[in-house]
Amino acid sequence: MNQDAKPTRAAIVDSIRRAARQEQFLEVVSAAEARRRFEARLERAPLASESVPLAAALSRVIAADVIAPIDTPPFDRANVDGFALRAADTLGAGPGTPKRLTLNREVIACGVAPALEVASGTVTAIATGGVIPRGADAVVMIEHTELIEDDAVPAIDVHRVVTSGQFISYAGSDIARGETLLRRGTQIGSREIGMLAACGLTSVEVVQRPRVAVLSTGDELIQPGQPLRPGGIYDSNGAIIAAAVAEAGGEAVPFGAIADDQSALEGAMRTALASCDIVVLSGGTSKGAGDLSHQVVSRLGGPGILVHGVALKPGKPLCLALIGKTPLIVLPGFPTSAIFTFHAFVAPLVRARAGLPIEAAHAVAARVPVRVPSELGREEFVLVSLVGADDGLVAFPTGKGSGAVTAFSQADGFFAIDALASALDADSQVEVTLIGKSERAPDLVIMGSHDIALDVVVGALAERGIRAHHRRRQSRRSECGKPRRMRYCAGTPGRCRERRLQQASAYIGTSAPPGLAAHAGLCLSSRRRAL
Ligand code: AMP
Ligand code: MG
Repeated sequence: MNQDAKPTRAAIVDSIRRAARQEQFLEVVSAAEARRRFEARLERAPLASESVPLAAALSRVIAADVIAPIDTPPFDRANVDGFALRAADTLGAGPGTPKRLTLNREVIACGVAPALEVASGTVTAIATGGVIPRGADAVVMIEHTELIEDDAVPAIDVHRVVTSGQFISYAGSDIARGETLLRRGTQIGSREIGMLAACGLTSVEVVQRPRVAVLSTGDELIQPGQPLRPGGIYDSNGAIIAAAVAEAGGEAVPFGAIADDQSALEGAMRTALASCDIVVLSGGTSKGAGDLSHQVVSRLGGPGILVHGVALKPGKPLCLALIGKTPLIVLPGFPTSAIFTFHAFVAPLVRARAGLPIEAAHAVAARVPVRVPSELGREEFVLVSLVGADDGLVAFPTGKGSGAVTAFSQADGFFAIDALASALDADSQVEVTLIGKSERAPDLVIMGSHDIALDVVVGALAERGIRAHHRRRQSRRSECGKPRRMRYCAGTPGRCRERRLQQASAYIGTSAPPGLAAHAGLCLSSRRRAL
């Protein structure tokens, strides 16, 4: 097509009509109902097992209980360097009244099988890790003895009473043969690998990882590494969903970004269905004219779409389908909606098929200091930053929309507002479900617009062990579609940036920049006195 040809008036009107055509969701169901419908039809049992070498077993899930094949330690073992002896021979020993015991003609180093029995009145020199010889029932530390070389037979003086069993690890005291060493469903970490190796095992039966196809959709999407063109945005959903699949115990199979084209989408979906256990798409699931994903899904075969439209914010256009036995989920395109609904609907399925138990949600109580309006009829999840205050935790809504990548990635957690509430009143107590691993709440939360000086301050604080989070408020519109310049950029951005960084660095080590607190609205935690 000639790129320079101007579209006719009729063509413009027609494309506006098509863009404005918005179907309605046939049936919007609650999140609980969506989950019930989906889970009722799904196979959730762990996949079959496979054997993997220990070196490749990290983070895999044990498929069947592992029974210890040997005792560990495999023999009674000395815990210190010293002498193996009979405890009864030391009765009455003390600093001024040593007991003299003669040395056997043997030294038991590690890995040496003892040849001589320890008879009454004798001792055998033994190293840490050595096999306790027959007859001995204790070890005395070398520090509590004195070597006597003048006697006809070499001997030692023992200066303290020794109790039976002292400094001996008995065979099987660490791991007993026949005991259940590791249970199925355990995710293997370095500690589990150590236990398996201690029993001499070289491989372990683990649950196969569910293969999860990850497809992004949209003409505007550009893969990271490629130059951005006007109107283009980087495909962040593909990367975050693939990583979240791996965190949930699955193996992500990346399909990249597919254009908004019915046949391209259908081809990619069919390939994904044929080669993967679960298929996850993002984007194109609203009911607008350009949203094709659900239309293509409805042609892929039965049982087909189980849910399309959930009374949930973020995440209303979520589409849950089953094609044959393979679950296919179309997540909303907005990055925060996509990853939020992934964790709510897809991650539990990936975990179940990977053999992992249901993830326990970690929640904390917090006060929300501001009023939060909410849409009636939709259960709303509000992403928050947590900060410790003198009267407990305070949860600040991050205030970023579901189109923001950082809304989810930088939040500490979220709380829910009931579908029947139109707002949450200021100073309400809520339960915040934490996101990510148990990081402690930040010591300082800075709310406000961006300033590179703050990056310097936050970095310097981090190096002193103080966790500060900078949470941006919604910024102003860019002018003429151009990216907005940083604040304080009067001259060329590069030179200005440098000057600003120099100014900020000069403040570090003295006090906070004058006016910075007012500008950014510093919210200091209970650790503020330490700052
Ligand atoms: P859609 O659901 O396709 O209408 O997309 C909604 C919004 O999410 C649009 O602004 C898209 O550009 C954006 N979006 C869709 N897919 C992705 C993706 N893979 N990565 C980042 N943003 C996306
Ligand atoms: Mg799209």
